[in-house]
Amino acid sequence: MSVGTALFGLDRDGLTSFFHGLGEKPFRAQQLMQWIHQRGVADFGHMTNLAKPLRGRLAEVAEIHPPEVLVDQCSADGTRKWLLRVDGGNAIETVFIPEHNRGTLCVSSQVGCAMACTFCATGHQGFNRNLTAAEIIAQVWVANRALGHSADGERIISNVVLMGMGEPLLNLPAVVPALNIMLDDMGYGLSKRRVTVSTSGIVPAIDRLKAQCDVALAVSLHAPDDTLRDELVPINRKYPIAELMAACRRYMAGKSARSHITFEYVMLDGVNDSPAQAARLAALLTDVPAKINLIPFNPFPGTSYRRSSASAVARFQEHLLNRGYIVTVRRTRGDDIDAACGQLAGQVMNRLRRLEPLVAELR
Ligand code: SAH
Ligand code: SF4
Repeated sequence: MSVGTALFGLDRDGLTSFFHGLGEKPFRAQQLMQWIHQRGVADFGHMTNLAKPLRGRLAEVAEIHPPEVLVDQCSADGTRKWLLRVDGGNAIETVFIPEHNRGTLCVSSQVGCAMACTFCATGHQGFNRNLTAAEIIAQVWVANRALGHSADGERIISNVVLMGMGEPLLNLPAVVPALNIMLDDMGYGLSKRRVTVSTSGIVPAIDRLKAQCDVALAVSLHAPDDTLRDELVPINRKYPIAELMAACRRYMAGKSARSHITFEYVMLDGVNDSPAQAARLAALLTDVPAKINLIPFNPFPGTSYRRSSASAVARFQEHLLNRGYIVTVRRTRGDDIDAACGQLAGQVMNRLRRLEPLVAELR
């Protein structure tokens, strides 16, 4: 096993200080980022604009260790999902969702999640561990290498959302360098409004994110009042809705008029989908620049929640539209490969139990 510095997870500042330690100039950091993230090269031997002695030195003191792709699956609707091994016992999933004018990669930030939201398969699985910055960016690396560019030279991955497994704001020390690499021109060159961190509402970390890397924010609201949110999103007992909304307003302070927070709202039949609840939600969001994304619930084994009917979703949407909000309904994508929102963990769990036989089968 190698003990070298893992270069995958170092952003430009991290690489610059790494090269400084080797007595090398700062521009080496840019060269290395381009090789790794733009050209998908993980072998120092292929980095032809680095002098041979430097390549040799890097091979001794550092490593670029791409994750092993255990499964690479395509759905009938074009959604693609990778199962990546991150260590002996854990694997994570990354999902690519093509749409007509963009391609969104949904990335995981933790193995499992401690937040225990009652409607979420990952929440039922419990928390295993934080991913490292290298493991987070590796998901983008694998997908980008597989998908590449369109015929006119545009990257196929135009957007990244941290909406896979895990609560990204409870893993900021790893998430922030990974975000920096996504945004860096020498990395994936994505603009801040095309990279979205989704949170269940970790109030102090929302302020920290703003200070460290103010990408687009999505907040998983799911209920218009504390009594219901306490039940669906238990972290609400610690950071209730009023505090969460205040943090959202602080996050948006000083941002351009075009920017907004996306409020996610999973539609659960008979639980949070009534017209009265739509009215309360509309009232709650009046003083935050908001877009609302309604997510039809994706069932998973063992849940007693049901998806709201199409008519209940339409009525709820209509109510919010009439109050002047921009409201989208998320289309369910990739459900034939269990890649829809909230379905990732169950499959990882099942596969984890079978990880070794599965790997043997693939070899
Ligand atoms: N932990 C973060 C990000 C990961 S969850 C968060 O909660 O925001 C990403 C989104 O998927 C969240 O809005 C979450 O509420 C939603 N989700 C979770 N389980 C779901 C399910 N079973 N059906 C539909 N959406 C779900
Ligand atoms: Fe964790 Fe998000 Fe699932 Fe809640 S919805 S358990 S915060 S992954």
